[in-house]
Amino acid sequence: MSHRSERKPRSSTAAAAGMLVVLVSLAVFTTWSALTASAAVSGVAAANARTAIYERARFDVLEEESLERKYRLEPGPAVSEAHATVARQLKQSMNRLAATADAKDLAQLRGILELHKSYLADIHELFAAVDAGDSALALKIDDTRVDPVFSTLQADIFSGLDAQVAKTARAVSSLQRAESRLLATTPLTFIVVLFLLVKFLRVSRRYESTVSSRALRDSLTGLPNRECFYDRATLALADEPRRLATTSVLVIDLDRFKELNDTLGHRYGDRLLCLVGPRISPLLRPSDTIARLGGDEFALLLPDAGGSLAAQQVAERVVAALREPFNLEGLTYTIDASCGHASSPDDGANVDDLLQHADVAMYIAKAAHSGVVAYHPTLDINTPRRLAILNELPAAIAEGQLVLHYQPKTDIASGEVTGAEALVRWNHPVHGLVPPDEFIPAAEHSGLIKPLTSWVLNTALAECRRWMDTNGDPGRDDLTVAVNLSARSLLDDTFPAELLEALTRHGVAPGLLSLEVTETAIMSDPQRAHAVLKQLHDLGVELSIDDFGTGYSSLAYLRFLPVSELKIDKSFVKHMREDTNDGVIVRSVIDLAHNLGLKTVAEGIEDQATLVQLTDLGCDVAQGYHLAYPMPAEDLDLWLRTRTDRSFVATPVSTAS
Ligand code: C2E
Ligand code: MG
Ligand code: MG
Repeated sequence: MSHRSERKPRSSTAAAAGMLVVLVSLAVFTTWSALTASAAVSGVAAANARTAIYERARFDVLEEESLERKYRLEPGPAVSEAHATVARQLKQSMNRLAATADAKDLAQLRGILELHKSYLADIHELFAAVDAGDSALALKIDDTRVDPVFSTLQADIFSGLDAQVAKTARAVSSLQRAESRLLATTPLTFIVVLFLLVKFLRVSRRYESTVSSRALRDSLTGLPNRECFYDRATLALADEPRRLATTSVLVIDLDRFKELNDTLGHRYGDRLLCLVGPRISPLLRPSDTIARLGGDEFALLLPDAGGSLAAQQVAERVVAALREPFNLEGLTYTIDASCGHASSPDDGANVDDLLQHADVAMYIAKAAHSGVVAYHPTLDINTPRRLAILNELPAAIAEGQLVLHYQPKTDIASGEVTGAEALVRWNHPVHGLVPPDEFIPAAEHSGLIKPLTSWVLNTALAECRRWMDTNGDPGRDDLTVAVNLSARSLLDDTFPAELLEALTRHGVAPGLLSLEVTETAIMSDPQRAHAVLKQLHDLGVELSIDDFGTGYSSLAYLRFLPVSELKIDKSFVKHMREDTNDGVIVRSVIDLAHNLGLKTVAEGIEDQATLVQLTDLGCDVAQGYHLAYPMPAEDLDLWLRTRTDRSFVATPVSTAS
């Protein structure tokens, strides 16, 4: 069973926000790097273009000087035109540079253009002097005006070129920086994106698992919810043939939980609900599941419990653990719990049936305040009335609303009454006399059968003692009393000691007590039942198999049990005369029982003819309405005293039930 803690959604949001910041920063940085690189490339291209123009201008200005010199030596229109072309080129170059120059360069370029203009004017005069053959004037113009202006012009163009070369070098180095940034950011971007991708995948996988675990978990306690329980139970049931196992379902409901919510508030109620899982978990196996079905209802799935008895033990441990005080934020609070359980295949082969039956049993447990109840089909019948009755049963036991009626058992051979069977009834203030069939089965599947059996045993032994003391003169110390035992008592190791204590307290010899147990009770857990029966036998009490023939045991098996009496079930006795099969069964049982050294009792004898037939078959003891109805203790006194007819003529008394 796993109680994996869930990551808070807040931390996922923070992680996502962090990732977003990193991604945006990276995107901004990369874009900036790319833009600066591209700007650097354009800068270098522009600088290169300007340098080329300057280079061209430097060449042109030198060419101008050379043509000027040539004209003085070889004047002619070809040279003057060539000079004019070069001068135009130079002017165009300066204009092109000026078109894209900054303010400082522009001023310099305008200065060059002005200088060039005055240089051309001087050249014009120089060429005219040459054309006129006035060499002295030409030399003078050259020396005084053309040469100085040309030197300045040349120096300005050269310095402009140098400055442009320096600018180009700067543009190239800024391009190199941008390139290195890009070179550095590209692998970094790749690594970061890869990292973020991995992180994103992990976060999204965790998110998916959180979402899916939320769908199968109860949000308050973190325990599996109803859907999850249903799925696991379905799987467990489907897997049963492979595991050769049975599946048990336990439904647990906290008692008076509403009271806690109402008095201390929902915060404390929620806290308690959260503590239920950790309290129960240590009692379970790893393969078991504890789920919260809703409200204060929990369910356990035991895929390998090993049947109803084992589930009962787990349920009892769980309920006992829940009764231990809870610490609710410093406040000690004690609560009760009711548990019902159902096991496959007897109580249902699918999840719906098991849950519903465990629920029915849980409600019976709640009504009876009995802690744990195992499901049994009889619990379903008249459930509302049974629930109401069970609700009142504990008080009925305590307040003395239960009564015992006694039905005589008569020795057929002698006609003597040898004892009486104690049969319980509930003298209900509203429903009147409620027969045992209406409350014994439910009590048997809840913890109530134990106090009920104790009460019956003590009352019957007290009555047996009274027969010894007052019935007749000096009293009947040979009358046995028979008490019916439930399957629970047969599986209760403490019962023999309790019985011995009761016998001693009432001063009744063990031989005067007969305990009636049914075959089905023994067969529910033959080994344990055998052990308890042996202890009871060793105490000296007589043991009798009740309702014989309705269960599945064989006479051969009974041979090994320390019993001395068989009570043939009334369903065979009633129809033994009309139904030949029943007649054969009764005859066979009597014969075989005698062969095994067992006494036979026929119950349910309703007429003389049946009694006669049983007498012929050699039956030992008779019991039935024909002889006497079960009756209150006082009526039995009267019946015993006034009974004169020993030929078994039915004489029901007025108060017979
Ligand atoms: P059981 O032990 O087999 O008791 C015999 C039942 O047959 C009694 O029903 C009795 O009233 C009824 N009976 C007796 N003679 C005749 C007859 O001639 N014809 C017919 N049709 N019925 C007859 P009752 O008292 O209703 O008890 C029913 C069952 O309840 C008992 O069957 C016994 O299994 C159980 N029971 C009664 N008292 C106790 C008790 O104190 N503890 C336990 N664990 N079970 C009890
Ligand atoms: Mg009986
Ligand atoms: Mg019986």
